[in-house]
Amino acid sequence: MHHYIDDYADALGPCKIIHLYDPATNLKAIVVLDNLSLGPAIGGCRMAPDVTTREVYRLARAMTLKNSINFLPYGGGKSAILADPKSPDKDKMIEVYAEMIRHLPEYIPGPDMGTDENSMAMIKDRIGRAVGLPANKGGLPLDELGTTGFGVAIAADVASQKLGLPLKNARVTIQGFGNVGKATAKFLTERGAKIIAASDSAGTIYNPDGLNLASLLEAVDQGKKVAQSGLGHSMDRDQLIEIETDLFIPAARPDVIHPDNQARLKARLVLEGANIPITHDAAAQLHDRGVTIIPDVIANGGGVTCAVCELESSSREDMFERIKNNITRNTLELMERVQSESAPPHEIADRMARERIQEAMSANR
Ligand code: NAD
Repeated sequence: MHHYIDDYADALGPCKIIHLYDPATNLKAIVVLDNLSLGPAIGGCRMAPDVTTREVYRLARAMTLKNSINFLPYGGGKSAILADPKSPDKDKMIEVYAEMIRHLPEYIPGPDMGTDENSMAMIKDRIGRAVGLPANKGGLPLDELGTTGFGVAIAADVASQKLGLPLKNARVTIQGFGNVGKATAKFLTERGAKIIAASDSAGTIYNPDGLNLASLLEAVDQGKKVAQSGLGHSMDRDQLIEIETDLFIPAARPDVIHPDNQARLKARLVLEGANIPITHDAAAQLHDRGVTIIPDVIANGGGVTCAVCELESSSREDMFERIKNNITRNTLELMERVQSESAPPHEIADRMARERIQEAMSANR
């Protein structure tokens, strides 16, 4: 039988695709609820004029797998408001959107591109649910606490121990010196690692003896680009990946490592701070030449876990503990199964996430 979602539906979902329209303001929105067997769906609300249903579905699926692998009792969903986030009517549109999703209690929105903690506060005030709130509204400030970077460092603890690569004096290269990159640098420095290189959208700074992290953070806080910090040799942005290093942490953009440049990467361990920083083919090539990769859904799982802890009103201490336990358990299972099942890490992570959902689906039956 032909069905309009046949080309992307599978055993997991999507279970609901909803196109919303408000005739009074002409506002359009899309909500995709992918799989609800673990619980109500959590996933960001993106505001952009040109988002497609397929894109929302793919992002919803990514949330299904990420929530599942991180042991979170939530399903995957995503939404989009089809509008320009720079519009002067943004607040009004957020309010209209909140009303549109009022009667979709199985969807809990969070911030994404084009929306922020203030948008989530407005939604929560109106309909009583949203995550990623400002601290004064009960939010756990993810970036201020460096939560995602904390989780990346936990994955590094486990993986480095398994590889027999002590973090003390290990050389670390960080691509993207934003929220995730800076926090990761901080937590790894506390473990005695040496940050030898960091990049941002404008360039790279490199010092084989280790960059002075406090001075680099200060320079960046003053609005300087990393290459202008004067703390090492400045290089082109994309030369970063050629630097000989022990740990490489992509924490910038998707698809930055691809088949054309993967051969230049000389790290032993790659921890994916960013989402999908390595293309599928490049990841397989890196795996074949013995580079250990800890995939995004595990390494940066501190972000989603923080959102769930906020929803459950956990303390900061409990949140860090939960991230530590879950990322430790996942990294260990991943590395063991990469060996025992002889498959690349992204495939194993996908299996781990799907198995946990299938288990819930058969239990619900
Ligand atoms: P951010 O905007 O704070 O920082 C991004 C940094 O990357 C900036 O320093 C920017 O200059 C730099 N950059 C951009 N393009 C680059 C390039 N081509 N080469 C090198 N550097 C480049 O963003 P963030 O919050 O740190 O998020 C980074 C990545 O991590 C994104 O993929 C995001 O989806 C993902 N992520 C973030 C969180 C979180 O907690 N913030 C959680 C999970 C995943």
